[in-house]
Amino acid sequence: MKPYKNKINRIRSFALSLIFIGVVIMYIGIFFRNNEIVMLSFMVLGVLAIIASTVVYAWIGSLSTRAVQIQCPSCGRHTKMLGRVDMCGHCREPLTLDPSLEGKEFDEAYNRPKAKSTKTQKEAK
Ligand SMILES: [Zn+2]
Repeated sequence: MKPYKNKINRIRSFALSLIFIGVVIMYIGIFFRNNEIVMLSFMVLGVLAIIASTVVYAWIGSLSTRAVQIQCPSCGRHTKMLGRVDMCGHCREPLTLDPSLEGKEFDEAYNRPKAKSTKTQKEAK
């Protein structure tokens, strides 16, 4: 299996796992019924995890409005991509918006800004 996933899908599964973690934490809290403080802190932690996942979901919403929707050349389905390179959400085909990167091997490093050190060196001269 390819190591990379479509970014929006990846964030979405992270938000989903946060909900599960929150529910599990609250469930653990039930076992501490005899100790109110411990139970309450578990409940608060669980609620915080669920709130965090809501925040992440809202963040995905704002990301997908900015994401570019394209038709995947491999499976023909529509997918949203973030950054210069991303994966198709359905078939994991590497996609790029930059024609200069076309045909090159997929590398998430293309999304990172180019090394800052060379830029600052130029500015110093
Ligand atoms: Zn595809």
